[in-house]
Amino acid sequence: MGDLAAYAKKNGIKFFLFNFTDLFGVQRAKLVPAEAAAKMQKAGAGFAGFATWLDQTPAHPDILVMPDTNSIIPLPWRPDVAWVAGEPWMNGEPLAQAPRVVLRKLTEHYAKKNMKLMAGVEPEFHLINADGSAVSDHRDTAEKPCYDQSAIMRRLDVIAEICQTMTQLGWGPYQNDHEDANGQFEINWNFSDALTTADQVAFFKFMVKSIAEKHGLRATFMPKPFINLTGNGCHVHLSVWTKDGKKNLFEDPKGELGVSKLGYHFLGGLMHHAAAMCAITNPTVNSYKRINAPRTISGATWSPSSITYGGNNRTHMVRIPDSGRAEYRLPDCAANPYLLLASILVAGMHGVEKQIDPGKRLDIDMYAEGHTIKDAKKLPLNLLDALRNFEQDSYLQEMLGQEVSKGYLKLKHNEWNNYCRHLTQWERDTTLDC
Ligand code: ADP
Ligand code: MG
Ligand code: MG
Ligand code: MG
Ligand code: MG
Repeated sequence: MGDLAAYAKKNGIKFFLFNFTDLFGVQRAKLVPAEAAAKMQKAGAGFAGFATWLDQTPAHPDILVMPDTNSIIPLPWRPDVAWVAGEPWMNGEPLAQAPRVVLRKLTEHYAKKNMKLMAGVEPEFHLINADGSAVSDHRDTAEKPCYDQSAIMRRLDVIAEICQTMTQLGWGPYQNDHEDANGQFEINWNFSDALTTADQVAFFKFMVKSIAEKHGLRATFMPKPFINLTGNGCHVHLSVWTKDGKKNLFEDPKGELGVSKLGYHFLGGLMHHAAAMCAITNPTVNSYKRINAPRTISGATWSPSSITYGGNNRTHMVRIPDSGRAEYRLPDCAANPYLLLASILVAGMHGVEKQIDPGKRLDIDMYAEGHTIKDAKKLPLNLLDALRNFEQDSYLQEMLGQEVSKGYLKLKHNEWNNYCRHLTQWERDTTLDC
């Protein structure tokens, strides 16, 4: 582990954000002055777990966040502050319900079997007014706004600052685009091992929000912020490599669409566990307004409703866009990046170990012809449905760890119950005269 005090001296850092991500994906941090970094690096920064989204009581001892210096990122928009992802510890060991701990342990588990998940993620976001009321660019009203050249140029100041920051960080961003909804954007960068990518997604959300704010705007990753517009997905492109990163085990020039048997088994596992994983991949009440949704103004939601896979066809839950990889199109940006990749890893590897058959590839337009596929399993219709599916999946729970699974289920059921206490306008409109 590197020495934070020496790093601060060398890079002009005045403060470190000792960061951790809680069960709901919220970024928590203590701002540690460089002068105290050496002491705090050894002792860890203390947090009351109950004050965050962790399954703890006010009586629990403090968690101590130990920084992982491999993850350190100086904030390019505030270069005297450095962010460092940490692992919460309690009673002398890493906290089993902490999402980053869960993912790290799982990557180590599969590394022993000489396999490593590589992931590239596409977190979509909307640039909206600071008060959250509407898309910030009032001229961004086209019915089909995807790739709109003028609209992205009107937001160049924000997009360029984010993209240049990523270049500076060495992430290798290679394209920025206006997406399918008014006010919606996407930035793509190179894939990496699962833990690096999860740290990057955690940081990406923080960075995009911070830079948008600097420009007087607000960025939202909410799965469906506007009911008639395409929602914010968080597609995950994935492949499995040998531990040394030399061989892509998903690739087989002789396999169907250039994907190996192992790749198809991984897909089999993903499809087998998809409904249960929704509790993690689509973790909010709002997530279910993005999937299973009616057509948007642009003509398509670009998100799935059923558990199917296809070739280079964006109407399915899994797409095989190219040889040697698959794209999981179900997850949204509310997902905890660590639990998201942990659940994909567990589900896919279960498929590999048990040689689970993903079934036949479908080449149809699911939006137009989905109803003709009678045996296609539907995705959960709401958060409660997803939580119940997760409760039924003992393999997923066991492999993620009982601490995280039980804690997550408990807090998410509370969230669902809070939601149910609300009276909506729709209920009044449709039931007042019953
Ligand atoms: P899409 O066609 O789905 O919009 P993008 O170009 O937006 O695709 O994103 C593709 C993502 O897939 C990038 O993050 C890229 O780094 C990643 N990727 C490419 N090849 C692989 C691979 N073999 N394994 C994992 N991720 C990959
Ligand atoms: Mg205090
Ligand atoms: Mg994309
Ligand atoms: Mg997209
Ligand atoms: Mg995609």
